[in-house]
Amino acid sequence: MSLSIGSIAFDTIENVHGKRERIVGGSLTYYAYAASLFENPKLVGVVGEDFPQEIIEEMEERGIDTRGIVREKGKTFFWAGKYSDDFLERETISTELNVFEQFDPKIPDFYKDENNVFLANIAPSLQEKVMEQLGENKFYVMDTMNLWINIDREGLEKVIRKADGIILNDEEARMLTGKSYIYDAAKALKEYGVKFVLIKKGENGSMLYFNNKFTVIPPYPVETVIDPTGAGDSYGGAFMGFLEEAEEINEKTLKRAMVYGTIVSSFTIEDFGTERLKKLTRKEFEKRFKDYAEMLNFNI
Ligand code: AMP
Repeated sequence: MSLSIGSIAFDTIENVHGKRERIVGGSLTYYAYAASLFENPKLVGVVGEDFPQEIIEEMEERGIDTRGIVREKGKTFFWAGKYSDDFLERETISTELNVFEQFDPKIPDFYKDENNVFLANIAPSLQEKVMEQLGENKFYVMDTMNLWINIDREGLEKVIRKADGIILNDEEARMLTGKSYIYDAAKALKEYGVKFVLIKKGENGSMLYFNNKFTVIPPYPVETVIDPTGAGDSYGGAFMGFLEEAEEINEKTLKRAMVYGTIVSSFTIEDFGTERLKKLTRKEFEKRFKDYAEMLNFNI
């Protein structure tokens, strides 16, 4: 089972299809719903007094282990974002850390045997605290966001140096490395010492740099995108979910994990927030996986 830390949030999202206020989101939430299709992810996170208990119960019903989520005095993390009409750009309107400001994550002892750890998008200082408690011998995959590159580059770089893999989007990869050509950015990220670099490129698919080799796969064609929020986090959840089933990390398993991420995130973006993702079944996943494989089959 994978263990993960990240944000649980209320999000206000505005785009060409409308506006949704204070809906449940957060990097950890998307991660968990996606991973729960394949395993029972163990979460470490914090919510405020205002967060509905029903959502935590709903997660438990999906096989998500929420015993590491604590409820603190104060308000839940809040994020508001607005998308350009073509979805290519996203502006953060507001980030309120709230309960995250004082959060001191404690990994429960019964979580400590897990080998695969996903550091979802959250302050690098919190990602590091998780690494400190679990030690060096884990398989760490991390995500991040432009905010942390801007306000805590040093802390972030420290975390990357200790990670085994990094998953981030193309804009973040360029920002972090200063390289505009995406292949150069991937190579520069590898220099931090990670084993693999995975760059998500939105409607252009995703790219892996592993063992000095690039693998690029296309997205599943979603004709109407309703809300891309959480696409990255649910990609991460499905990616780690598959790696739980895999016996070793190699080119073949990483590539298949990418396909899992691609398929699950293609569902996420079909509705606002977690609406589509949390209803997604393994059967629907399998069907789309098959359609995607057929789309890429050159031997017909
Ligand atoms: P994504 O669209 O994959 O980048 O993820 C969007 C999710 O990230 C939203 O649900 C937000 O609540 C969450 N989020 C936004 N900013 C931050 C931040 N600075 N730290 C942690 N989570 C964030």
